Amino acid sequence: MDIGGTSVRAGVVDRYGTVLDTARAPTPTSERALEDAIVQAVGTLALRHRVTAVGLAVAGFVTTDRRSVMFAPHLAWREAPVADRISARLSLPVVLEHDANAAVLAEHRFGAARGARVALLVAIGTGIGGGLLLDGKLFRGAYGVAPELGHLSLVPNGRPCPCGKSGCWERYCSGTALSATAVELLARFPGRSTVLGREVATDKRAVTGRKVAAAARDGDPLAQRAMADLATWLGEGLALVADIYDPEIVVIAGGVSESAPLFLDDARDHYKKLVTGAGYRPLARIRTAQLGDEAAMVGAASLAANGG
Ligand SMILES: [Zn+2]
Repeated sequence: MDIGGTSVRAGVVDRYGTVLDTARAPTPTSERALEDAIVQAVGTLALRHRVTAVGLAVAGFVTTDRRSVMFAPHLAWREAPVADRISARLSLPVVLEHDANAAVLAEHRFGAARGARVALLVAIGTGIGGGLLLDGKLFRGAYGVAPELGHLSLVPNGRPCPCGKSGCWERYCSGTALSATAVELLARFPGRSTVLGREVATDKRAVTGRKVAAAARDGDPLAQRAMADLATWLGEGLALVADIYDPEIVVIAGGVSESAPLFLDDARDHYKKLVTGAGYRPLARIRTAQLGDEAAMVGAASLAANGG
Protein backbone atom coordinates (compact mmCIF):
# COMPACT_ATOMS: atom_id res chain seq x y z
CA MET A 1 0.00 0.00 0.00
CA ASP A 2 1.01 3.58 -0.59
CA ILE A 3 -0.21 5.84 2.22
CA GLY A 4 0.00 9.44 1.05
CA GLY A 5 -1.46 12.71 2.24
CA THR A 6 -4.33 12.66 -0.28
CA SER A 7 -5.02 9.01 -0.94
CA VAL A 8 -4.54 5.53 0.42
CA ARG A 9 -3.76 3.17 -2.47
CA ALA A 10 -3.58 -0.60 -2.27
CA GLY A 11 -2.35 -3.05 -4.88
CA VAL A 12 -1.97 -6.80 -5.15
CA VAL A 13 1.61 -7.32 -6.28
CA ASP A 14 3.06 -10.63 -7.44
CA ARG A 15 6.66 -11.80 -7.00
CA TYR A 16 7.67 -10.23 -10.33
CA GLY A 17 6.54 -6.78 -9.23
CA THR A 18 3.41 -6.82 -11.37
CA VAL A 19 0.38 -5.02 -9.96
CA LEU A 20 -2.58 -7.36 -10.47
CA ASP A 21 -5.39 -5.41 -8.84
CA THR A 22 -5.83 -2.08 -7.03
CA ALA A 23 -8.08 -0.26 -4.58
CA ARG A 24 -8.04 3.40 -3.55
CA ALA A 25 -9.64 5.64 -0.90
CA PRO A 26 -9.15 9.24 0.21
CA THR A 27 -6.81 9.54 3.22
CA PRO A 28 -8.87 9.96 6.45
CA THR A 29 -7.65 12.55 8.92
CA SER A 30 -7.87 10.58 12.19
CA GLU A 31 -5.55 7.76 13.20
CA ARG A 32 -8.33 5.25 13.75
CA ALA A 33 -10.11 6.06 10.47
CA LEU A 34 -6.82 5.83 8.57
CA GLU A 35 -6.14 2.36 9.97
CA ASP A 36 -9.75 1.34 9.24
CA ALA A 37 -9.27 2.43 5.61
CA ILE A 38 -6.09 0.32 5.34
CA VAL A 39 -7.76 -2.75 6.86
CA GLN A 40 -10.75 -2.28 4.58
CA ALA A 41 -8.68 -1.94 1.40
CA VAL A 42 -6.69 -5.08 2.19
CA GLY A 43 -9.93 -6.89 3.05
CA THR A 44 -11.48 -5.96 -0.29
CA LEU A 45 -8.47 -7.16 -2.30
CA ALA A 46 -8.06 -10.30 -0.16
CA LEU A 47 -11.54 -11.41 -1.28
CA ARG A 48 -10.22 -11.66 -4.83
CA HIS A 49 -6.56 -12.70 -4.25
CA ARG A 50 -4.50 -14.74 -1.81
CA VAL A 51 -2.68 -12.06 0.20
CA THR A 52 0.27 -13.34 2.29
CA ALA A 53 1.84 -10.16 3.65
CA VAL A 54 1.25 -6.41 3.69
CA GLY A 55 3.80 -3.66 3.06
CA LEU A 56 2.92 -0.05 3.85
CA ALA A 57 4.86 2.73 2.11
CA VAL A 58 4.42 5.86 4.20
CA ALA A 59 5.14 9.51 3.43
CA GLY A 60 6.95 10.02 6.73
CA PHE A 61 9.71 8.91 9.11
CA VAL A 62 9.69 5.21 9.95
CA THR A 63 11.72 3.65 12.81
CA THR A 64 14.75 1.51 11.88
CA ASP A 65 12.88 -1.69 12.88
CA ARG A 66 10.14 -0.73 10.35
CA ARG A 67 7.40 -1.17 12.98
CA SER A 68 6.42 2.41 13.84
CA VAL A 69 5.81 5.76 12.19
CA MET A 70 7.69 8.46 14.09
CA PHE A 71 6.30 11.45 12.22
CA ALA A 72 4.44 12.03 8.99
CA PRO A 73 3.68 15.67 8.17
CA HIS A 74 0.50 14.93 6.20
CA LEU A 75 -0.80 11.91 8.16
CA ALA A 76 -2.36 11.48 11.62
CA TRP A 77 0.34 9.14 12.98
CA ARG A 78 2.77 10.40 15.66
CA GLU A 79 5.06 7.79 17.26
CA ALA A 80 2.48 5.17 16.29
CA PRO A 81 3.18 1.39 16.34
CA VAL A 82 1.34 1.02 13.02
CA ALA A 83 2.76 -2.33 11.85
CA ASP A 84 1.75 -4.20 15.01
CA ARG A 85 -1.72 -2.63 15.14
CA ILE A 86 -2.52 -3.42 11.49
CA SER A 87 -0.95 -6.87 11.74
CA ALA A 88 -3.16 -7.73 14.76
CA ARG A 89 -6.28 -6.65 12.87
CA LEU A 90 -5.45 -8.49 9.62
CA SER A 91 -3.66 -11.53 11.08
CA LEU A 92 -0.97 -10.99 8.43
CA PRO A 93 2.68 -9.93 8.63
CA VAL A 94 2.98 -6.15 8.11
CA VAL A 95 6.07 -4.09 7.37
CA LEU A 96 6.47 -0.30 7.02
CA GLU A 97 8.85 1.70 4.86
CA HIS A 98 9.36 5.34 3.90
CA ASP A 99 7.75 5.84 0.47
CA ALA A 100 10.88 7.00 -1.38
CA ASN A 101 12.86 4.11 0.14
CA ALA A 102 10.20 1.68 -1.03
CA ALA A 103 10.27 3.29 -4.49
CA VAL A 104 14.05 2.98 -4.90
CA LEU A 105 13.84 -0.68 -3.82
CA ALA A 106 11.19 -1.33 -6.46
CA GLU A 107 13.13 0.47 -9.20
CA HIS A 108 16.19 -1.57 -8.19
CA ARG A 109 14.39 -4.91 -8.22
CA PHE A 110 12.10 -4.38 -11.20
CA GLY A 111 12.75 -1.04 -12.91
CA ALA A 112 15.22 1.65 -13.97
CA ALA A 113 17.95 0.90 -11.38
CA ARG A 114 18.20 -2.85 -11.99
CA GLY A 115 21.71 -4.13 -11.38
CA ALA A 116 23.05 -0.86 -9.92
CA ARG A 117 25.18 -1.05 -6.77
CA VAL A 118 24.78 2.61 -5.79
CA ALA A 119 21.44 4.08 -6.85
CA LEU A 120 19.71 7.28 -5.89
CA LEU A 121 16.02 8.00 -6.42
CA VAL A 122 14.86 11.61 -6.43
CA ALA A 123 11.09 11.89 -6.35
CA ILE A 124 10.08 15.37 -7.52
CA GLY A 125 6.49 16.24 -6.70
CA THR A 126 5.10 18.83 -4.27
CA GLY A 127 8.53 18.59 -2.65
CA ILE A 128 11.54 16.29 -3.07
CA GLY A 129 11.75 12.79 -1.63
CA GLY A 130 14.96 10.79 -1.69
CA GLY A 131 15.85 7.10 -1.53
CA LEU A 132 19.37 5.71 -1.61
CA LEU A 133 20.82 2.24 -2.15
CA LEU A 134 24.44 1.69 -1.17
CA ASP A 135 26.00 -1.60 -2.26
CA GLY A 136 22.53 -2.79 -3.22
CA LYS A 137 21.07 -2.13 0.23
CA LEU A 138 18.81 0.65 1.44
CA PHE A 139 20.71 3.34 3.29
CA ARG A 140 18.41 4.60 6.02
CA GLY A 141 20.85 6.40 8.32
CA ALA A 142 21.32 5.67 12.02
CA TYR A 143 17.72 6.51 12.95
CA GLY A 144 15.83 5.71 9.77
CA VAL A 145 15.34 9.23 8.40
CA ALA A 146 18.06 9.48 5.71
CA PRO A 147 18.30 10.79 3.06
CA GLU A 148 16.26 13.97 3.53
CA LEU A 149 17.40 15.63 0.31
CA GLY A 150 14.60 18.15 -0.24
CA HIS A 151 15.74 20.36 2.61
CA LEU A 152 19.41 20.62 1.68
CA SER A 153 20.00 24.35 1.71
CA LEU A 154 21.12 25.39 -1.77
CA VAL A 155 20.47 29.12 -1.84
CA PRO A 156 21.66 31.32 1.05
CA ASN A 157 18.73 33.51 2.19
CA GLY A 158 16.62 31.95 -0.55
CA ARG A 159 12.92 31.20 -0.72
CA PRO A 160 11.43 30.46 2.72
CA CYS A 161 10.48 26.82 3.32
CA PRO A 162 7.71 25.44 5.56
CA CYS A 163 10.45 23.38 7.29
CA GLY A 164 11.64 26.61 8.94
CA LYS A 165 14.80 27.05 6.86
CA SER A 166 15.24 28.98 3.63
CA GLY A 167 16.73 28.19 0.24
CA CYS A 168 15.93 24.46 0.45
CA TRP A 169 16.45 22.43 -2.75
CA GLU A 170 12.75 21.61 -3.08
CA ARG A 171 11.86 25.34 -3.03
CA TYR A 172 13.64 25.52 -6.45
CA CYS A 173 13.11 22.05 -7.83
CA SER A 174 9.55 20.72 -7.45
CA GLY A 175 6.04 21.25 -8.77
CA THR A 176 5.61 23.96 -6.14
CA ALA A 177 8.86 25.59 -7.28
CA LEU A 178 7.73 25.62 -10.92
CA SER A 179 4.68 27.56 -9.91
CA ALA A 180 6.68 29.97 -7.68
CA THR A 181 9.23 30.60 -10.45
CA ALA A 182 6.49 31.22 -13.02
CA VAL A 183 4.76 33.71 -10.72
CA GLU A 184 8.08 35.54 -10.12
CA LEU A 185 8.82 35.66 -13.85
CA LEU A 186 5.32 36.93 -14.64
CA ALA A 187 5.81 39.78 -12.15
CA ARG A 188 9.16 40.68 -13.78
CA PHE A 189 8.00 40.33 -17.37
CA PRO A 190 4.28 41.09 -17.44
CA GLY A 191 2.55 40.26 -20.70
CA ARG A 192 5.16 37.73 -21.77
CA SER A 193 2.94 34.72 -21.30
CA THR A 194 -0.64 35.00 -22.39
CA VAL A 195 -1.89 31.72 -20.92
CA LEU A 196 -0.16 31.92 -17.54
CA GLY A 197 -0.56 35.71 -17.40
CA ARG A 198 -4.31 35.35 -17.58
CA GLU A 199 -4.24 32.74 -14.81
CA VAL A 200 -2.11 34.87 -12.50
CA ALA A 201 -4.31 37.90 -13.06
CA THR A 202 -7.25 36.02 -11.56
CA ASP A 203 -5.49 34.09 -8.81
CA LYS A 204 -1.78 33.46 -8.17
CA ARG A 205 -2.53 30.04 -6.72
CA ALA A 206 -4.11 29.02 -10.04
CA VAL A 207 -0.62 28.77 -11.57
CA THR A 208 0.14 25.18 -10.53
CA GLY A 209 3.28 23.28 -11.49
CA ARG A 210 1.15 21.12 -13.74
CA LYS A 211 -0.16 24.18 -15.63
CA VAL A 212 3.36 25.57 -16.04
CA ALA A 213 4.49 22.22 -17.47
CA ALA A 214 1.53 22.13 -19.86
CA ALA A 215 2.24 25.71 -21.00
CA ALA A 216 5.93 24.87 -21.54
CA ARG A 217 4.90 21.89 -23.64
CA ASP A 218 2.73 24.22 -25.73
CA GLY A 219 5.74 26.44 -26.40
CA ASP A 220 5.04 29.23 -23.90
CA PRO A 221 8.45 30.97 -23.51
CA LEU A 222 7.90 32.07 -19.91
CA ALA A 223 6.85 28.58 -18.82
CA GLN A 224 9.87 27.18 -20.69
CA ARG A 225 12.08 29.59 -18.77
CA ALA A 226 10.59 28.35 -15.48
CA MET A 227 11.28 24.80 -16.64
CA ALA A 228 14.90 25.72 -17.51
CA ASP A 229 15.26 27.17 -14.01
CA LEU A 230 14.06 23.87 -12.50
CA ALA A 231 16.56 22.01 -14.71
CA THR A 232 19.41 24.19 -13.43
CA TRP A 233 18.51 23.51 -9.82
CA LEU A 234 18.04 19.81 -10.45
CA GLY A 235 21.54 19.63 -11.95
CA GLU A 236 22.96 21.73 -9.14
CA GLY A 237 21.40 19.56 -6.40
CA LEU A 238 22.37 16.31 -8.11
CA ALA A 239 25.99 17.48 -8.41
CA LEU A 240 26.00 18.17 -4.67
CA VAL A 241 24.52 14.78 -3.79
CA ALA A 242 26.82 13.00 -6.29
CA ASP A 243 29.84 14.52 -4.57
CA ILE A 244 28.76 12.73 -1.39
CA TYR A 245 27.47 9.38 -2.68
CA ASP A 246 28.93 8.98 -6.21
CA PRO A 247 25.88 7.11 -7.51
CA GLU A 248 25.94 4.86 -10.55
CA ILE A 249 22.40 5.78 -11.46
CA VAL A 250 19.96 8.52 -10.50
CA VAL A 251 16.28 7.72 -11.02
CA ILE A 252 14.03 10.75 -11.37
CA ALA A 253 10.53 9.91 -10.13
CA GLY A 254 7.44 11.76 -8.87
CA GLY A 255 4.76 13.75 -10.67
CA VAL A 256 7.18 16.29 -12.19
CA SER A 257 9.14 13.46 -13.87
CA GLU A 258 6.22 13.10 -16.29
CA SER A 259 7.53 16.32 -17.88
CA ALA A 260 11.11 15.01 -18.04
CA PRO A 261 11.51 15.68 -21.81
CA LEU A 262 11.15 19.40 -20.93
CA PHE A 263 14.03 19.51 -18.42
CA LEU A 264 16.09 16.34 -18.12
CA ASP A 265 18.68 17.00 -20.86
CA ASP A 266 19.31 20.49 -19.45
CA ALA A 267 19.61 19.07 -15.93
CA ARG A 268 22.14 16.48 -17.15
CA ASP A 269 24.24 19.24 -18.77
CA HIS A 270 24.30 21.29 -15.57
CA TYR A 271 25.11 18.23 -13.50
CA LYS A 272 28.00 17.30 -15.83
CA LYS A 273 29.47 20.80 -15.57
CA LEU A 274 29.08 21.17 -11.83
CA VAL A 275 30.10 17.83 -10.39
CA THR A 276 33.59 17.96 -8.85
CA GLY A 277 36.27 16.67 -11.21
CA ALA A 278 33.95 17.04 -14.19
CA GLY A 279 35.44 15.44 -17.29
CA TYR A 280 37.75 13.19 -15.29
CA ARG A 281 35.32 10.81 -13.56
CA PRO A 282 32.54 8.45 -14.63
CA LEU A 283 29.18 10.14 -14.28
CA ALA A 284 25.93 8.77 -12.92
CA ARG A 285 23.35 7.89 -15.53
CA ILE A 286 20.26 10.02 -14.95
CA ARG A 287 17.02 8.49 -16.14
CA THR A 288 13.32 8.53 -15.33
CA ALA A 289 11.52 5.94 -13.20
CA GLN A 290 9.99 2.92 -14.89
CA LEU A 291 7.34 1.98 -12.36
CA GLY A 292 5.64 5.37 -12.25
CA ASP A 293 3.45 6.12 -9.27
CA GLU A 294 3.19 2.43 -8.38
CA ALA A 295 6.87 2.18 -7.37
CA ALA A 296 6.36 2.77 -3.64
CA MET A 297 3.50 0.25 -3.52
CA VAL A 298 5.52 -2.38 -5.39
CA GLY A 299 8.59 -1.79 -3.19
CA ALA A 300 6.58 -2.10 0.02
CA ALA A 301 4.94 -5.30 -1.21
CA SER A 302 8.28 -6.72 -2.23
CA LEU A 303 9.72 -5.95 1.22
CA ALA A 304 6.74 -7.54 2.94
CA ALA A 305 6.98 -10.65 0.77
CA ASN A 306 10.61 -11.00 1.73
CA GLY A 307 9.84 -10.61 5.43
CA GLY A 308 11.06 -6.97 5.57
ZN1 LIG B 1 13.04 23.08 3.84
